[in-house]
Amino acid sequence: MMHYFLTEEQQMIVDICRQIVDERIIPARAGLDEKGTFPWEIIKEIGKSDLFRLFVPEEYGGMGTGIFNVCLATEELSRGDLSVATSYAASGLGFIPILVMGNEEQKKKYLPQLASGEKLAAFGLTEPEAGSDASSVRTRAVKEGNWYILNGTKQWITNGGEAEIYTIFASTNPERGARGISAFIVEKGTEGFEFGKKEDKLGIRASATRELIFTDCKIPKENILGSEGMGFIIAMRTFDQSRPAVGAQAVGVAQAALEEALNYSKVRKQFGQTISSFQAIQHMLADMATQVEAARALVYHAARVIDSGEKNIAKLSAMSKLFASDVAMKVTVDAVQILGGYGYMKDYPVEKMMRDAKITQIYEGTNQIQRSIIALELLKRGAL
Ligand SMILES: Cc1cc2nc3c(=O)[nH]c(=O)nc-3n(C[C@H](O)[C@H](O)[C@H](O)COP(=O)(O)OP(=O)(O)OC[C@H]3O[C@@H](n4cnc5c(N)ncnc54)[C@H](O)[C@@H]3O)c2cc1C
Repeated sequence: MMHYFLTEEQQMIVDICRQIVDERIIPARAGLDEKGTFPWEIIKEIGKSDLFRLFVPEEYGGMGTGIFNVCLATEELSRGDLSVATSYAASGLGFIPILVMGNEEQKKKYLPQLASGEKLAAFGLTEPEAGSDASSVRTRAVKEGNWYILNGTKQWITNGGEAEIYTIFASTNPERGARGISAFIVEKGTEGFEFGKKEDKLGIRASATRELIFTDCKIPKENILGSEGMGFIIAMRTFDQSRPAVGAQAVGVAQAALEEALNYSKVRKQFGQTISSFQAIQHMLADMATQVEAARALVYHAARVIDSGEKNIAKLSAMSKLFASDVAMKVTVDAVQILGGYGYMKDYPVEKMMRDAKITQIYEGTNQIQRSIIALELLKRGAL
């Protein structure tokens, strides 16, 4: 048993998540993956267990316990199922812009509903023509009296259709590029706000990924976050805080694959002995365990640094997401290899873990983009 110097409260968060994983998530995950059904019952259980409160300060109905605790919960949920953990973490991603830039009124109105798990949030930045280059969003928000009128389409938005509260990035001044983007809170049910079909995906199939379509969607001017032109900064500051949680997703799924491979290696016999007696398998397991441990250490460190109040977090945050997601991909592929042909079958969970792990290298900025962020910070501030 490894020791991560967790407080009693943090160990409790881990234990609560483990119970949900063992009792609710593991028995359901293969079915959810096959049918692609959104895991509402499990999400409600997570809400009842107060885990959404970890994202929110106490004065708004949360537990104000910081990114490290969010990472602990996310990692444990990801050991069970990455679709569930993604739905959980993406709601947090939708809250963070309100936390970062919301005014008192917005925080009082929205955060308690999100903290209780009563409502989910979502984060709408990506568009068909604006992926890595998020500054090129074409969704427009035009001010008319006391309203903003939104027109445009967001693509691949996690929790799309299931969430009630959306933070949406739209241009209020296309001539100013990134500095013309603004962020808005948009509620489900607003006239002119509709959803596209749920995407059919390689992995995290039970998570909801949908288009958000805005057609002359009229939202009150009070729903802007910060002021006009601050949207891009809000998005970047949100990612700086949220990326360690993607790292935590990666660590969780990698840990689960390692455990499956280890257990299998001790029971599968070939040539009259367990495959764990072969040095080739032992060395793979040793490398997998070392990589998972290193990824976890980096994610925990990044989260603790953010919680310390440090401002320059972009590099460490990007590193934790980059390293952990590359580890998750490698470890889940190796787990399939250790299970051999059985690893390729749906009778065992490792093929699903491999499919699921891939997304952690793509969303919240691809790993190429993470490398660019790290390099930029290195060149700007030096290597320490
Ligand atoms: C399942 C899923 C869920 C998602 N959830 C959300 C969500 O909730 N909210 C949201 O806003 N978005 C979401 N996204 C979008 C996601 O963040 C984008 O897919 C991602 O940022 C990459 O954009 P893209 O897919 O358009 O790839 P592109 O930007 O087209 O990139 C294609 C390839 O080119 C590389 N590339 C691009 N630019 C550069 C560069 N400058 N240097 C080097 N390489 C480069 C990329 O790394 C990639 O390998 C989700 C995506 C998926 C698949």
